[in-house]
Amino acid sequence: MIKDTTENKTDLIASLKATNAQLKMEIGERKRAEKALQELVKTYQETSLKLRTLINAMPDIVCFKDGTGKWLEANKSMLELFDIEKLDYHGKSDAELAESTPFYQDALLNCQYSDREAWNKRSLSRGEEVIQKKDGTVKIYDVIKVPLFYEDGKRNGIVVLGRDITEQKQTEKAMMRLASIVESSNDAIIGNTLAGIIHSWNSGAEKIYGYSIYEVKGRSISMLAVPERPNEIPQILANITAGIGIDNYETVHLRKDGKHIDVALTISPIKDTQDNVIGVSTIARDISDRKQVEQSLEQLRHQHQLILDSAGEGICVIDMFCKISFVNPAAARMTGYTIKELVNNDWSFIIYKSQTNNKADIISTQKKSKTCPVKTTLEKGIVCQVTDDFFGRRDGSFFPVEYVSTPIVEQGKIIGAVVTFKDITDRLAIEQMKDEFISVVSHELRTPLASIHGALGLLKSGLLNQAPERGRRMLDIAVANTDRLVRLVNDILDLERLHSNQVTMLKQTCNVSELMMQAANEMQPIAEKTGVSLSVTPIDTKLWGCADKLIQTLTNLLSNAIKYSSTGKTVWLTASKQLINQNQADNSNNLTSGVQSDRTVAPTYRINSDYQVLIAVKDRGRGIPADKIETIFGRFQQVDASDSRQKGGTGLGLAICRSIVQQHEGKIWAESTLGKGSTFFVALPILD
Ligand code: ADP
Repeated sequence: MIKDTTENKTDLIASLKATNAQLKMEIGERKRAEKALQELVKTYQETSLKLRTLINAMPDIVCFKDGTGKWLEANKSMLELFDIEKLDYHGKSDAELAESTPFYQDALLNCQYSDREAWNKRSLSRGEEVIQKKDGTVKIYDVIKVPLFYEDGKRNGIVVLGRDITEQKQTEKAMMRLASIVESSNDAIIGNTLAGIIHSWNSGAEKIYGYSIYEVKGRSISMLAVPERPNEIPQILANITAGIGIDNYETVHLRKDGKHIDVALTISPIKDTQDNVIGVSTIARDISDRKQVEQSLEQLRHQHQLILDSAGEGICVIDMFCKISFVNPAAARMTGYTIKELVNNDWSFIIYKSQTNNKADIISTQKKSKTCPVKTTLEKGIVCQVTDDFFGRRDGSFFPVEYVSTPIVEQGKIIGAVVTFKDITDRLAIEQMKDEFISVVSHELRTPLASIHGALGLLKSGLLNQAPERGRRMLDIAVANTDRLVRLVNDILDLERLHSNQVTMLKQTCNVSELMMQAANEMQPIAEKTGVSLSVTPIDTKLWGCADKLIQTLTNLLSNAIKYSSTGKTVWLTASKQLINQNQADNSNNLTSGVQSDRTVAPTYRINSDYQVLIAVKDRGRGIPADKIETIFGRFQQVDASDSRQKGGTGLGLAICRSIVQQHEGKIWAESTLGKGSTFFVALPILD
């Protein structure tokens, strides 16, 4: 038993030793394992710290969640985004965190929702998340979610990474807005290089030029230049290279269909961040419509200008302060001012003014007592028509006018007046001429009437009862003068019309001797009555003229010669052919000036250019003073005022003679010696 005990003890010791050795070995291993573990923990802690430092330094948001969605780790950016830096988020779900930060509840629950989508998708998912911040700003994140699974397929965790793309999005938005502005612009917006190569071309450019972007990209912008302006685009590009922009430059470009188009260009250099010019931006605006409107307006303005310039009436526009704001050339011409002198000057002072000469004093006094009609128009807006006023000229003289002042009304308000005036000097002269005409008629009627009266008187007296031949002659004279009277009335009317160039005198081939004899025969009764002898030396030559008018001229001269000769004297009516002497005009008046000649002659004859006929009516009467020798040819001009009373004249006869001779391209003049007599000459062209 003892043996057994000893053996047992030995075995036990051996076993203990073995166990001890085993324990020692295990302890050693454990220590090593612990050390390794410590090392591992240390490494992990160090790595974890580095990792935390790293993810905190990242501007992106980073978050790790476990398979149930509980937050394990989140970086600083993530915590700041949801304002939960001070919160212990570990082990909390999005919903739990949302309770702690209610402002971001929606955003956090959205996170949870998109996590679920990533889990379901079982692979990386990406999307944009918009988060409204407490300060009112909006943050946009490009978020990537990576779900992690165990081998058995169970959820392990999810990695959330997000990049702030707010700025990028804003830039994109601004760019898109800009692009849509460019695209929707009606103007052509063209980008090209400094060498002129087109790289961008908006829809406005397509519309204006007719080319699509594909047709122009890579081509030179010179394709838009018209052939007439080959240097324009190179010059513009040179300016732009030098940094000089061009604003609103109007030119003509070429469309795809070959048509020319008016454009206004604004060309600017495109610069890089270093301020270097790297390209050209051209904005072209289609101004064809505007140009057309401008052209139409210009045409209209030109037309109006032409109308105003060619208007015979003076036109003045007067403003509310009675100042002239516009005058047409006729107004300036009539008043003797320049347009510049009239514009901006006072209407009453310049045209409707007071002057110092006598006539003007009267006018001025009259004007002072009346209100200026133009002022009445301006004040009351009524049209004033004046037919008997005077306007002043620059030289101080006045001229008779009739005018109308009409208010200019805009939107119911009087803003000025238009004064349209006419210089009525000519009209007044015509009225005077009308009066004279009546005198002429009565004067001219008297001469043949006197012949008729003389002839009939002789017959009535019975003196010719024993001389039937002479009695018949007297009757012939009376009849001829009656006819002539009728013709005269008509002719005088014609003559007046001729003065106004309304009628052409009826001319024919006349024999000068016949004209002379007829005139002498007509005047014979008067000559006999006054005891004056008539001596006629006719000449047989032809002229182109109106017989009645020429006879009228000769009878007038004979009548005067008889009138101003005393009884017993002789009056000579002679004629001769004469070489045309150019200097003859010195003795005569300038009769042909301003007369429309009638050189239409019978086909068989033509005007003799070397010779003329000179008819002379000579008397031995009282003569004419030298200072009256020319004036007596004027209307109503007489040597003595008593002539009309005593001799029955009106002073119109010679004026009519001059007018008739003038119509025949002839000359009429007188030579006289006071107390010895006068000779009246009529020089007329003759026919070959
Ligand atoms: P009228 O004889 O009707 O007065 P005229 O025009 O014929 O008109 O003549 C104008 C004036 O010329 C006359 O009034 C007269 O004073 C003057 N006169 C014309 N002829 C002669 C003449 N032969 N001798 C003198 N004076 C004349």
